[in-house]
Amino acid sequence: MMSEIPVRAMAVVAHPDDAEFTCAGTLAKWIDLGAEVVLVVATNGNKGSADLSMTSERLAPIRRQEELAAAAVLGIKEVVFLDYPDGELEETPALRRDVTAAIRRYRPEAVFTQDPYRRYQLHRDHRIIGAVTMSAVFPAARDHLYFPELMTQGLLPHKVKQLYMIAPDEPDAWVDITDTFDRKIAALRCHISQVGDNENLEQMLRERAADLGRSQGIALAESFKRVPLYY
Ligand SMILES: [Zn+2]
Repeated sequence: MMSEIPVRAMAVVAHPDDAEFTCAGTLAKWIDLGAEVVLVVATNGNKGSADLSMTSERLAPIRRQEELAAAAVLGIKEVVFLDYPDGELEETPALRRDVTAAIRRYRPEAVFTQDPYRRYQLHRDHRIIGAVTMSAVFPAARDHLYFPELMTQGLLPHKVKQLYMIAPDEPDAWVDITDTFDRKIAALRCHISQVGDNENLEQMLRERAADLGRSQGIALAESFKRVPLYY
């Protein structure tokens, strides 16, 4: 179980809806307990459609609005859209700098990101944003000689205290989301372009949350892998 509730937390994910599927119950719970949460979405999600008449140009603003609506349901303070094209994330210095800049600007004590070491994680954007965020948390956010241009923008070094990988193979931290599960579903329902026709969404996520909590005696849970940070 996680005991320390941070004052500020950040989730860094590849796509609009990734956070809602994996850590939104935890974010909503912490927000209710007084935490400020910022969500960083790396891509504009402009390839996530099965509608053959959809175009990437039309899809990107739709997904942005869906994410803003979901964030409002959860009580997220701000959504930072990095606006990279969907499916095209690479481990570039530019992406590392963008994530480092967000960490230094909002100064979260806790950061959530996707687990690049999860076995058979199919979506390469998920693998890449996780790896980039780990590198941004440590050491780029901490050390001023990384991306020195950030110092000239007033973005001073920052030490993240807690790093949590979302949806890991081997969790070692669990959060009881029984009280915020309904908000997680309501936030997901805002992503109409993604789950609008999924009638089994709530049932599927309820079963998953029950599975994740079972070993801990929690009715509905989200689970994480804690990455130790030594400074
Ligand atoms: Zn995704």
